Amino acid sequence: MTSNGALTIAFARPDIGEEELEAVAETIRSGWLTSGPGMEAFESEFRSYLGGQVEVLAVQSATAGLHLALEALGIGPSDEVIVPTWTFTATAEVVRYLGATPVIVDVDPDTLNISLDAVEAAITPHTKGVIPVHFGGLPVDMRRLRAIADRHGLVIIEDAAHAFPASLDGNMVGDCAHSDATVFSFYATKPLVMGEGGAVTTRLPEVARRIRVMRLHGIDRDVFNRFTAAVRSWQYDVVAPGFKYNLSDLHASIGRVQLRRTPVMHDRRRAIAKRYFDELGDMPLMLPAEGPSGATHAWHLFVIRLLDQASVSRGEFIDRMAEAGIGTSVHYRPLHEHSYWKSLHPQWNPGTHYPHAAAAASRAVSLPLSSALTDDDVTRITSAARTVLA
Ligand SMILES: *Cc1c(COP(=O)(O)O)cnc(C)c1O
Repeated sequence: MTSNGALTIAFARPDIGEEELEAVAETIRSGWLTSGPGMEAFESEFRSYLGGQVEVLAVQSATAGLHLALEALGIGPSDEVIVPTWTFTATAEVVRYLGATPVIVDVDPDTLNISLDAVEAAITPHTKGVIPVHFGGLPVDMRRLRAIADRHGLVIIEDAAHAFPASLDGNMVGDCAHSDATVFSFYATKPLVMGEGGAVTTRLPEVARRIRVMRLHGIDRDVFNRFTAAVRSWQYDVVAPGFKYNLSDLHASIGRVQLRRTPVMHDRRRAIAKRYFDELGDMPLMLPAEGPSGATHAWHLFVIRLLDQASVSRGEFIDRMAEAGIGTSVHYRPLHEHSYWKSLHPQWNPGTHYPHAAAAASRAVSLPLSSALTDDDVTRITSAARTVLA
C-alpha cells in the first residue's frame, strides 16, 4: 500500500515527452494553430504508414470521424446499423446522430470482437451497415465480414479506435481492403496520442470528398486552401450544413511525433503483453486472445477475465490492486446494460440476446498497458495480481 493511498501506476499513462513538447512549441512559434500544413503533413504520413492506398481525413475525434463516415456513406433515418455490445458508447451513439437505429449484437466469447454469426442473424431489410470494433487491438475477420456485407448490400465502417498499428493477413487495419471506411482515435489513452484527435481512412474518392467538405461547415474547400491557394480567401461556397470537426495543427504536431515513434512504442506494448502471458499464465484467469497466426495485435488493452476458481470477485480484485497502488479499468460495461440503450430495447434479455457478453461482463478487468511502463512497473503489476489472486 502506498503511504498516501495514491495510485503510483496509473491505468493509462500517456507515452509523451520532450519531442512532443518541442513539436507543439514549434507549431505555436509558426503562428499557424488551426488546420493547416501540420494537419496535411500528418494525413500524408499516416497514409504512407498504412501503405498509401487510402485517403486520410484528420478530425477532432473518432466520434466525429464515425459521424462523418456514416453521413458520407448515406446512413439516415429508418436505417439500421449493426454494432457490438462490447464497445464504448460512441460506436452506437453516432448512429443515433443520424436518426438511424443501432442494432446491438453479441460478441465472440474468445476475442470479444463482434460475433459474425450474430451479425448475419441480425440482418433485416432495413439493415444498411455494420460497425465492427477491433476490440483491444485484435483485428476482426474482415474478409468474412465483407462477404456477409456484400451478400446483403451493407456498408462497413471499422471502429479502429484500439487498432493502431494492427493487421490481418497482410492488410493493415485502416487500409480499407475489406471496408468502406476506417476510423481511428488519437484520444489521450489510445496507442497514438494527440490528447484529442482522430482520422477517417477510405479508398472511395466520393466518400473522402464528402467528409472533407462536411468536417468544416460544408464549405467546399478546406482552410489551408482558403488561405494559400490562388483562389481568393473569400471565394468559397457552402454546399451543406456541415460540422466543425477539423483537427488543429497543434494536435497534429503531437501526432506526427507519435507516428514516428509508433514502431518502438508498439514493440514495447507487445513486450509488456508477453510478460503478462508469461507471468500470469498459471493464475485462475482467462488471458486475452492473441488472434490467428496472420494477425498483428495492436495491444491497446490487456483484458483478463477472472475465472470462477479465483479467490476474489472482480470488484475486490480492482480494489485490492488500487490498494497496491495500481490502476486498472473495465472495458466494457456492455451497451445492453446501460440505461439509454436499454430504454430503446425494453424487450432485451441479456441471457438470451447477449450470452457471451453477459458471461464476460462481470469478469473482465483491464491491466495497465502503456509503452511508458518500465520493467519494474510490470513486475509490480504482475506480483500484485499474483498476491491478490493467491
Ligand atoms: C475511444 C473510443 C471511441 C471514441 O474515440 P474518441 O476519439 O474519444 O471520440 C470510439 N470507439 C471506441 C471503441 C473507443 O475505444
